[in-house]
Amino acid sequence: MLDGLNVEMDPNNRPIYVTRPYLPPLEEFTPYLEKIWESHWLTNAGPFHQQLEPALAGHLGVGHLSLFNNATISLIVALQALRITGEVITTPFTFPATTHSLLWNGIRPVFADIDPVTLNLDPARIERAITPHTMAIMPVHCYGMPCDYMAIQEIADRRGLKVIYDAAHAFGVRADGTSVAGLGDMSVLSFHATKVFNTFEGGAIVSRDAEMKKRVDYLKNFGIADEVTVVGPGINGKMNEVQAAFGLLQLRYLADGQARRQEIDRYYRRELAGLRGIRLQEPLERVEGNYSYFPIRVEPGYGLTRDGLYDALRAREIYARRYFYPLMSELPMYRDMPSADPANLPVATRAARQILCLPIYAGLEKSDLDRVVSVIKEHI
Ligand SMILES: *Cc1c(COP(=O)(O)O)cnc(C)c1O
Repeated sequence: MLDGLNVEMDPNNRPIYVTRPYLPPLEEFTPYLEKIWESHWLTNAGPFHQQLEPALAGHLGVGHLSLFNNATISLIVALQALRITGEVITTPFTFPATTHSLLWNGIRPVFADIDPVTLNLDPARIERAITPHTMAIMPVHCYGMPCDYMAIQEIADRRGLKVIYDAAHAFGVRADGTSVAGLGDMSVLSFHATKVFNTFEGGAIVSRDAEMKKRVDYLKNFGIADEVTVVGPGINGKMNEVQAAFGLLQLRYLADGQARRQEIDRYYRRELAGLRGIRLQEPLERVEGNYSYFPIRVEPGYGLTRDGLYDALRAREIYARRYFYPLMSELPMYRDMPSADPANLPVATRAARQILCLPIYAGLEKSDLDRVVSVIKEHI
């Protein structure tokens, strides 16, 4: 499955990555490409784009979705569309795109600490970080675990703030029966190759109403309203037809991929339960997850440090990832900000040093999983 062409390869020496895109059979993609070749419509809201937008909105159970070329541009545009300036409260435990999208808008990121269980922004710490300059909150549903969205919305409503969720990890996740992709004033999704639904590169903004979607759609196309009218300082955030076609095909395989990742999640939970010094993130009952990540915490009782285990796995060609290390607050462009002081972020600082994400993807076979688990068990 990992490398079906190379039949002579010793299965015990195959590299295992933290994630690998789930590719539908190539011959199923060919008819889509033929249509594109026939129509010569390569980008700018072509027929596949027109189909994928409502199909995804339907799949996710949201009303107003705009496709993008990636999630980073989507985050930048979301902040533009909501006209956010000043300060935005955000998590240090995330991917660079979250924080950089603020800097690209001339906004000052203010880091608040995370909850030790969900690893998402702690609402009590958000409240303490609010100043007269705060205009919005940008939380991340880390590993697809939903944020405490009710508490966050309550703070936002009471203090007059906007909420923009980075939902890059949360494709298809539901909490209390509702889609997390519809939360906040806007939510941003990523369809990058490493995510559970991918269009090679891609992303989307979910807006609250049709009027806001219209503004987002102008902004992703240079602000162009018609041939002679440019209504705003837009950017190029458009998804092309090859990407949109691939997304439509992927939608058919999503359930298969998710079922396989759920099995892997169960297997890890069974094999790693109760190991000294290895702690798992417990699933919440009110959450339907997407099994996109499998984080473990390597604590002092284990035989190796987190980095020691990371190296031991690498020595066997198992490429686990230290998501998210270093913290955004430790990076050169952010570390001098007062909110970046590690004393302000003790929970995130500990998480960044203890967490390792194990391989989880649909093509991961039982023998691969056994290899991962046996390396972990060697060092208890
Ligand atoms: C992947 C990711 C992004 C960026 O997505 P792109 O589509 O690659 O731009 C943003 N935020 C988080 C949390 C991510 O994991």
